[in-house]
Parts: sequence; structure tokens; C-alpha cells
Amino acid sequence: MTVNRRISTSPTISPPPLDIVIKIVNEYGDAPRRAAHEEAHDYPDPASLGGAVYGAFQTASTADLVAVANQAHAIFAAPTADRVASELDALIAATGLSPRVVADGVMIREAWTAPHASLLASVTLALLLHFREIPDARRIGVCAGDDCVDVYADASPTRRRRYCSITCQNRARARSYRAARRA
Ligand SMILES: [Zn+2]
Repeated sequence: MTVNRRISTSPTISPPPLDIVIKIVNEYGDAPRRAAHEEAHDYPDPASLGGAVYGAFQTASTADLVAVANQAHAIFAAPTADRVASELDALIAATGLSPRVVADGVMIREAWTAPHASLLASVTLALLLHFREIPDARRIGVCAGDDCVDVYADASPTRRRRYCSITCQNRARARSYRAARRA
């Protein structure tokens, strides 16, 4: 008896680490640039964000990076877990990501393919794998600082991160301290 072999010619998608996705979102996304009044600034070289080692980043145009950053920002900014799930689900459907298994020596490993390798497929996979590790949708978000809608993923032990950076956190603390002194 022969078994139909599933032969896939679709490329394997390699996900970047989530911290690189976050940098792309914050440096290229329209909303973070607008909130920081950086619309007129040049975009950084993707290589400076550590993205150059990932194939899809090497060939991405600035327009691609901006589009993908905006799509990923919508997931971080989604107000409910339902919305996070539906936004991510839509990206999985749009990119055609699907799982396979491959042998790696004697180990059976999961691999993900898509009909076309793309920056969006890589970023979508990075987000999908993030939620496998940390399913709680409240642990991603948008900075609570003034003039900042940069995104973050909360890996803190307290699970109460609300700011993109120590800078924004300190600024907010200083502001509430001054407000308290005036009161
Ligand atoms: Zn911030």
C-alpha cells in the first residue's frame, strides 16, 4: 500500500524574535510615529533593529515595513482578547500560514509554511508563537504614557507592565508626583 505523500513546495517561514517585531512596530508604525511627533523623521535601517538576519526583512521595502507594522500594531492595541484573536486569525488566513512536521535528525519538529514568504507571514508567526508561550492577551499592549503609543509585551514577574520603556514609566511617575504636589 502506498501512502499519498504530502509534498509541499511552500517556503518554510522563520519567525523573528518578538522583540524585533516590537521594534519594527514602534519604529515604522504610523501611530507610534505620529504620537511621538516623529512623522518627519527618517525611518531607521532595518538592519539596525536586528531584523537583517531574517530573510523577509532583507528584501522588505519601507512601505512593506510600515504596512506590516500597522497590521501588528492593531493586534497590540486591540482592546479585548476577542479582538486580539480575530485580528491575528485574519493575518493567519491572509498569509496562509499552515503547520507541518519535519524530521530534524531523530527529532520530529514543527515547521510553518506559507504560500509565499513575506514579512507579514514572519511577523504573524512570531505573534502566534508568542501566544503559545504567554496566552494572556492582557500581557501585550500599548504604552500608557502621554505622547506614546509604542507597543510592548509584558514579561515582568508582576505582570503589570503598562509602559513601553523605563523612560515612559519615569516620565509618568514624575508627572503624577508633580500633580500630587500641586494638589
Ligand atoms: Zn512609551
